[in-house]
Amino acid sequence: MDMTSTDQPPRTLTRVRDHLLDCGACVVGVADLTSWPETRTRGYPRALSLGVALRADPILQLRTRRDRPAEADRPVYAALAELAGIAIRYLQQFGAKGEVLVQLELPEALTHEEVAVQAGIAWVGKSGRPVTWDFGTAIRLTTVLTDADLPADKPVSRSFCGACLACTEACPARAPSGTVWAPGVQKSTFFNESACKEHRQQLAAQGRDCRHCMSVCPFTTVYLINSGLTVPTETGESS
Ligand code: SF4
Ligand code: SF4
Repeated sequence: MDMTSTDQPPRTLTRVRDHLLDCGACVVGVADLTSWPETRTRGYPRALSLGVALRADPILQLRTRRDRPAEADRPVYAALAELAGIAIRYLQQFGAKGEVLVQLELPEALTHEEVAVQAGIAWVGKSGRPVTWDFGTAIRLTTVLTDADLPADKPVSRSFCGACLACTEACPARAPSGTVWAPGVQKSTFFNESACKEHRQQLAAQGRDCRHCMSVCPFTTVYLINSGLTVPTETGESS
């Protein structure tokens, strides 16, 4: 066997997506930012939206326990930071710039979920969280702004929540109103962020966090089942 031969395609700028998936990203999309104000995009024409999924079994436990350790997402955020660094180094090999989006708490600030919608990887659920087809809301996101001339993905143009009210009915803070999101709709019109925050702050005092809405989302449930878990139905049967 010739150990020097390789079937790998050559490294090219547009293969950054495959490279990131190879390195552990669960979803990667490219957002076209050119129609958005430069004050929001820092003048970058493109952004890579990267997602890493949370482990499935703790989410299944969250369905019954209703809260979880406050640090539960830290390993995923560490993985996202590592992936963002990998993305930036890859882009730099081709003379392009990359910069991690620092999400500011300002009304006009660009958010990771907006970029994910524009990159075609998620819509905003009634729970106010990004929902992906393969991992439901059990996903965390980061964004790398870039001037690389990458082909952009098709933005998500609507919600896929439909008539589902699972997160609305499960939320102890009654934060989701049950109204469906559409592109351009402000989250504050259908989701009470303050109510959610207040509930999570109460739990944080005990070293816990909420995100119960994440565990009941049917798209998350599909992820749990696809991960090989047996998910009890509301009647106690297994699906
Ligand atoms: S995190 Fe908890 S309080 Fe916030 S929307 Fe989800 S279920 Fe409600
Ligand atoms: S639980 Fe239902 S309504 Fe809530 S985000 Fe998931 S699909 Fe949408």
